[in-house]
Amino acid sequence: PGLRALKAYDPGHDLVALRARHGAGRLVELGANENPYGPSPLAVAAARDALGTAHRYPDPLGGGLKQALAARLGVAPAQLLLGNGSHELLMQFAQAFAGPAAGVAMSQYGFAVYALAAQAAGAPLRIAPALPAGHAMARGHDPEALLAAARGEDVRLLYLANPNNPTGTWIDADALARLLDGLPPEVLVVVDEAYAEFVDAPGYASALALLPRYRNLVVTRTFSKAHALAGLRVGYAVGDAALVAVMERLRESFNVNCVALAAATAALGDQAHLREGVAANARERARLTEGLRERGRFVHPSQTNFLLVEFGSATAATEAALLRQGVVVRPMAGYGLPDCLRISVGTAAENVRLLQALDGAGP
Ligand code: PMP
Repeated sequence: PGLRALKAYDPGHDLVALRARHGAGRLVELGANENPYGPSPLAVAAARDALGTAHRYPDPLGGGLKQALAARLGVAPAQLLLGNGSHELLMQFAQAFAGPAAGVAMSQYGFAVYALAAQAAGAPLRIAPALPAGHAMARGHDPEALLAAARGEDVRLLYLANPNNPTGTWIDADALARLLDGLPPEVLVVVDEAYAEFVDAPGYASALALLPRYRNLVVTRTFSKAHALAGLRVGYAVGDAALVAVMERLRESFNVNCVALAAATAALGDQAHLREGVAANARERARLTEGLRERGRFVHPSQTNFLLVEFGSATAATEAALLRQGVVVRPMAGYGLPDCLRISVGTAAENVRLLQALDGAGP
């Protein structure tokens, strides 16, 4: 029954048509929080090599990538799940833990996939109100409200992106630990760290460090953002080995393809490339924030590779004017934020084009 009310994913723009209209390489694509610098050359080379084995099924266990991730993260390979993007894993947690008698909790302005996963599973959804206007993290997670929502009698699964998409905001390590301390162990807490590599705020800590303390905690991550492999679809989850073993039963046998496995493993080995991209993002995030603030825009604090920016009653007109000038950003009406646009941090040249296009967009 939950499916009846669902809509299929709408990317918002026909990017193929837009690229054709504006010319290849001319369109400034700042709508999908992608990494504008591209993958590690080592990952590209590994992907090319792996293509030669495309007539064989991939390793269904993803052993090589799990070994590399385990070594990097300081966990056991048996604590890792691999997904066709982290999106697939997020859906699978609802498949396993949510249903008509097992509800899902999330924040208002939390990542859209959580509500979709809950609905598809026919699970009741408990939405915690976000922090109010005027708060330093306005529209971000309110840990107290999340705790109250997740302690609802029927809730079995809490999704929490940290940092969050689409707000860019984050909660600190203490708030996360308090939340976990306040929840009964039968509530599975999925901390979605899709943007964790971009964080440099001193109070933030990855939930990975909390894994030994909470068996009901799972952390999801992705190769789509900092590792710049969005097109290959690789994500992973880290959690208790017994939980992971149960989740493996849901996995489609060969869910991560051979090219993706090889590229992700090589990308993980190229930490210098990762560091350069993260540093460039931090530099450009600060410059873009400043440029937008100089233009009188309210920019929500962000620890990610995108900014949530308020345009008030001019939001729709601004989005349309940007699009006419070949700059794609993400409208947020679907998130209940009709006064905001979400703008990915691009390269220096792309960010200049965005700011120029805004200047050309009228008052
Ligand atoms: N979580 C969050 C918070 C995201 O923003 C995204 C991508 N937009 C994902 C998960 C899914 O990413 P992927 O499926 O590419 O790993």
